[in-house]
Amino acid sequence: MKIYKFGGASISGLERIKSTANIIQGAAQEKLIIVISAMGKTTNALEKVAEAFFQGKKTEALDLFNQIKDNHLTLLKYLTVTQWLPAEMQLKQFFTEVEWMIHDKPVRNYDYYYDQIVCCGELLSSTLVTYYLKEQQCKATWLDARDLLRTDDTFRNANVDWTRSEQMIQQTVGPLFEEYDIVITQGFIGSTDENESTTLGREGSDYTAAIFANILQGESVTIWKDVDAVMSADPKKYPDASILSSLSFTEVIEMAYYGAQVIHPKTIKPLQNKNIPLQVKSFLDPSLPGTLISQHASKQLPPIIVHKENQVLIQFKTKDFSFMEGEPIQHLHGLFTAHRISPNCTQNTAISLWCSFDHHAERIEALAADAAQFFDVEMEKNLSLLTIRHYKEESIESLTKGKTILLEQKTQQTIQLLMR
Ligand code: ASP
Ligand code: MG
Repeated sequence: MKIYKFGGASISGLERIKSTANIIQGAAQEKLIIVISAMGKTTNALEKVAEAFFQGKKTEALDLFNQIKDNHLTLLKYLTVTQWLPAEMQLKQFFTEVEWMIHDKPVRNYDYYYDQIVCCGELLSSTLVTYYLKEQQCKATWLDARDLLRTDDTFRNANVDWTRSEQMIQQTVGPLFEEYDIVITQGFIGSTDENESTTLGREGSDYTAAIFANILQGESVTIWKDVDAVMSADPKKYPDASILSSLSFTEVIEMAYYGAQVIHPKTIKPLQNKNIPLQVKSFLDPSLPGTLISQHASKQLPPIIVHKENQVLIQFKTKDFSFMEGEPIQHLHGLFTAHRISPNCTQNTAISLWCSFDHHAERIEALAADAAQFFDVEMEKNLSLLTIRHYKEESIESLTKGKTILLEQKTQQTIQLLMR
């Protein structure tokens, strides 16, 4: 059994949905699990619906949601004939779930409502793809990932309950393959014991694919993207970027950790643990080899560049001149966890800790305010963090030209430079 994951871009519009269906049909001599993201920019659009609802702007929320409904209904009209009725019924069921919510008044926290509304994107897109495949006479069936993936109630960043999910996935999915070749479900979403919808964090669909592969001992996972392969840098910023045809799990987990937007950082562990290879391929040209990520050590790699903009540097200094170790350090890390934020680069001195963070404005302000009770806190915004794996001394100079370097961390493999 193989697992294919299709991201939003691969199903953004009629032609893309059809060519994605072609890729699926072309592989359907195998048993396939298809994990689907929301169409195009639907997740962003649903975020706007959730925000409007939470600010009490009910009409605006409903208007915004109507546009999403129309998009999906229009596509369905072009995708199905005989399957139109059952497909439309299924879409409408999800529309109703959201509309009921919008008609209520918010009494719980934002993250809860976000998940109840935003999860609908994947439910809608996977319905379109499933019924189009059925229309093409494929032996395909659809599953609600919320009946398979159990999570805790950390809304917007839910943690998977592996034991319960394993039970449910094994009970449900295995037997379906006696009748069907293709099982379609959603990435990114799950549910709690109380049947509340949850999401796994933005771009979490890759992670879902890895969870299914791990639990069902899949042969491989393929992530279909709009790039030819994983590249050594963003080709829009670095014209010299080259294709990486094979990478080790270790390399990819490091790249993702430093912020490379290859795949969701949580994706690698479930695959590595069961030695399941991961392929990154282009849905625009499936004949290209793409990138193979596996247990095998990466061959000689070129410098791999990851550039993170919008960094904020915070200096935490003990107020009473105690050393920045033991208790003060633990205290700070406790605050990072509480504010759901983790540093991308840190540096210790006798009485200070310097950290660079992604600038999530609200969380950063709250963290700084809490920390200021115990530490002197200084902050600088609008910085960028350059990470180079397998760096060569001579390349650093050209990459940092004209910049002031505020922080530098270096191991044999990796250099990080925080720059103004
Ligand atoms: N649709 C979700 C997002 O845009 C999840 C995903 O695409 O992986 O973040
Ligand atoms: Mg996506």
